[in-house]
Amino acid sequence: RSKRRGRGQITVYSQEIAQEMKRATQLEQALRNAIIADEVDVHFQPIVDLRNDAVVGFEALARWCDADLGYVSPSVFVPLAEERGFIEALAEALLRKAAQAALSWPRELFLSFNLSSAQLMDPATSTRLLAIVNQVGLDPHRLELEITETAVMTDTGVAQKIVSELRAAGVCVSLDDFGTGQSSLGRLRDFSFDKVKIDRAFVSRISADRASEHIVKAIVSMCEGLELEVVAEGIEDVSEALILKALGCGMGQGYFYGKPADAVTTMRYLSDRYRDVAVR
Ligand code: C2E
Ligand code: MG
Ligand code: MG
Ligand code: MG
Repeated sequence: RSKRRGRGQITVYSQEIAQEMKRATQLEQALRNAIIADEVDVHFQPIVDLRNDAVVGFEALARWCDADLGYVSPSVFVPLAEERGFIEALAEALLRKAAQAALSWPRELFLSFNLSSAQLMDPATSTRLLAIVNQVGLDPHRLELEITETAVMTDTGVAQKIVSELRAAGVCVSLDDFGTGQSSLGRLRDFSFDKVKIDRAFVSRISADRASEHIVKAIVSMCEGLELEVVAEGIEDVSEALILKALGCGMGQGYFYGKPADAVTTMRYLSDRYRDVAVR
C-alpha cells in the first residue's frame, strides 16, 4: 500500500516538474519574442546624495509585462535568460535603451546598470558594453555598472579583468546587495570598486533594530577607510533616511526618494527640478 502511495507521489512530483519545465519554456519563448519585438522596457530609479538630497543618478531596472503572463519580475526573467543562454541579447537591448534615455538627462547625472553573473564570466563583456555606450554616444564616465558578490564568486579572474577594463575606460563599478552574499570583505580587497550598495535587508530594519544600525555604521566606516562611496538601498521612510544621514552614509535610494519610473516620467521628474531640461 505504501509502495503504491510512493509511486503515486513520484507521479505527482514528475507531473509538477513537467509543469514547471513547461512553464519555464513558455516563459523563455515569450521573453525571446519580447526581446525581438523590443517589448522589454527599462525603468529608472533616482539615487540621491544624502548630504543635500540632490538626485545624482538613476539605476536602470528591467521591466517586462507579457500580454498573457502579466508582469514578470526581473529577478525571474534575468536568471532565466542567463540559464537559457540569451542574457547577452537582453542586456545589450536594455543598455542601449537606458543609455539612449540618459542622453536627455543633465550631463552630471549618471546611469547605473546591473550586470548579471553570466556577463561577468564572459571575457568579451567589457568590449561589448563599451561599444554600445560609444554607439549611443553616452560618455562612459556617466556609466556605472552594478555587480553582485555572487556574480564574482565563480570566476574571479575573468570578472577582475572585466572590472579593470571597464574602470580603465572611465566606468564606475559598484558592489550591489552588499552584506547578503558570501565573503563580502574579501571581494572588497580583490576588486577595485568605486561604490558599495548596502542591501535593503539592513536598511529596512534600521529604525527597529539596533543590530542593523550597528552593521550599517560599520560598513560606512569601513568604506570611508577604503575610500568607497556608500549607497543605502531601499530607503522607504523619513526615519530611515535620517538615521542613515546621521551615520554618515553618503548616498541613498528607495521608494522614499522615488520609485522606478519609465523614461518619459523620469524626464518629467527632471524637468521639474532642472531649468534646462525640457520634455520632448
Ligand atoms: P537590485 O539591482 O538590487 O535593484 C533594487 C531592487 O529593489 C529593484 O527591484 C527595485 O525596484 C527595488 N527597490 C528599490 N527601492 C525600494 C524600496 O524602497 N523598497 C522596496 N521594497 N524595493 C525597492 P526590481 O526592479 O524588481 O529588480 C530586482 C533585481 O533584478 C535587481 O535588484 C537586479 O538584481 C535585477 N535586475 C533588474 N534589472 C536588471 C537588468 O537590467 N539587468 C540585470 N542583470 N539585472 C537586473
Ligand atoms: Mg542594482
Ligand atoms: Mg541591490
Ligand atoms: Mg522599512
